[in-house]
Amino acid sequence: MTAFDLDFFVIGGGSGGVRAARTAAALGARTALAEERYLGGTCVNVGCVPKKLFSYAAHYARDFQDARGYGWQTDANPGFDWPTLMQRKNAEIGRLNGIYGNLLRNAGVRVIEARARVVDAHTVEVGGEVLRCREILIATGGWPSAPDVPGSNLALNSNDVFALPRLPASIVIVGGGYIAVEFAGIFAGLGVKTTLVHRGATLLRGFDSEVVVHFQNELRQYAELRLESQVKALRRAGEHTLVTLPDGAEIAAEQVLFATGRMPNTAGLGLEEAGVQLAANGAVLVDKRFTTSVPSIHAVGDVIDRVALTPVALAEGQILAHRLFGTPAREMSYDNVPTAVFCHPEIATVGLSEEQARAGGRAIKVFRSRFTPLRHTLSGRAEKAFLKLVVDAESDKVLGAHMLGEGAAEIIQGLAIALTMGATKADFDRTLGIHPSTAEEFVTLRTPS
Ligand code: FAD
Ligand code: NDP
Repeated sequence: MTAFDLDFFVIGGGSGGVRAARTAAALGARTALAEERYLGGTCVNVGCVPKKLFSYAAHYARDFQDARGYGWQTDANPGFDWPTLMQRKNAEIGRLNGIYGNLLRNAGVRVIEARARVVDAHTVEVGGEVLRCREILIATGGWPSAPDVPGSNLALNSNDVFALPRLPASIVIVGGGYIAVEFAGIFAGLGVKTTLVHRGATLLRGFDSEVVVHFQNELRQYAELRLESQVKALRRAGEHTLVTLPDGAEIAAEQVLFATGRMPNTAGLGLEEAGVQLAANGAVLVDKRFTTSVPSIHAVGDVIDRVALTPVALAEGQILAHRLFGTPAREMSYDNVPTAVFCHPEIATVGLSEEQARAGGRAIKVFRSRFTPLRHTLSGRAEKAFLKLVVDAESDKVLGAHMLGEGAAEIIQGLAIALTMGATKADFDRTLGIHPSTAEEFVTLRTPS
């Protein structure tokens, strides 16, 4: 007989929670998972998946235009129906919600569709039930945050966009991170007059600055970009929202989207009362084994505010479950986390940017290439691809690979394996290319510049 009702209670059915629960149950732990909103969490419902579907939708506009350079006699502006896209997207997300439920139940996880709260180190309360649990996992993710300016309630956040009943004719997007630039590409592609307003001097802080500069030039071809502009206020005027900028200028748009970051989702969870230490922004503080200041309470994913990406949350959840209920597996490494921004054109990157490598005090060699992809020689589109390798001058190890261009995510995923294995520039050089492709440029970069 055990004093516990369960071995493992997971709060949150997103990327990290689902992976941890399934892994723990497969290892024999008596596991339950509580999800208050939607199985699959942010990624499946209001993140990666619907965002990429929207991005595909937006891409067709360019494909229709590009096809004319290849002899297709297409209508210059074929009609687009937002409700059709929404209805088909919603059906697909519903299908995925069902799959997530089945995956959990088939693994032996008890799924509780309700909000859960921590009572103490070994107790949770969910849907009126009080359960004693050996281990508790907080995997409650994050929530969009908005700047505290007058009229901020008039703006949409990224969750709202996935439920918009009508495509606006114009939009102002505030922010300069992943979500802002991805939605700039989506809305502009779908024919919406798009203005991107960012407080910083450049977009995408943390990315290689050359990649960002080239991307900004591409973005300016389809959206208006206003940098170093902190939004002061929003107000409604008829059918439009007016966005006030620091110089007093106002931009009118049918909709405004705040894409200004996300905050860890810990309010009202009972964590501080149970003795769990939180950071000032509400993030759960964990050690490198994902355990909080209370030894039986753990946390993974966006709620720990380390690297807010689905594959990272999956890896953290899996590693924790193995440590708690199986043979301790590998430790989590945050080196060489590949990432893509699904903007137009795509950006993908793995390893160190040139700035990060230099800041580490290393001597480096930089190889770069900027060119018109073969596809656009006939399409006539003025879009260039840019790719770059950052190499340690002493060891010849490739420290970073960066790309701006179509297919960047697919290409960099392969290079991430090479970097994880410690590939050198000489390894890249003795690799044969696939011709004709954009990716082959990565193995034909001969002269540092
Ligand atoms: P979440 O997926 O947020 O899951 C947390 C879950 O906990 C939620 O379902 C929530 O309802 C539930 N919950 C919260 N509190 C409670 C409670 N008290 N009781 C019960 N349930 C609770 N990442 C990528 O890698 N690639 C992408 O292309 C990408 N695109 C994105 C696009 C957008 C617009 C956004 C917002 C994010 C995107 N991300 C992307 C990030 C990715 O979605 C997150 O990193 C990932 O979902 C984090 O997983 P998680 O398990 O930590 O949290
Ligand atoms: P990001 O942290 O990427 O970007 C937030 C942006 O908002 C930054 O440009 C930031 O500026 C700006 N900002 C923050 N606060 C304010 C403010 N008060 N006023 C004006 N601007 C502000 O967050 P996102 O919301 O775009 O996305 C959240 C996270 O989700 C990402 O960091 C990423 O980890 C994940 N994600 C991943 C995707 C992918 O993998 N493709 C896609 C979408 C999201 P500054 O730089 O000056 O701080």
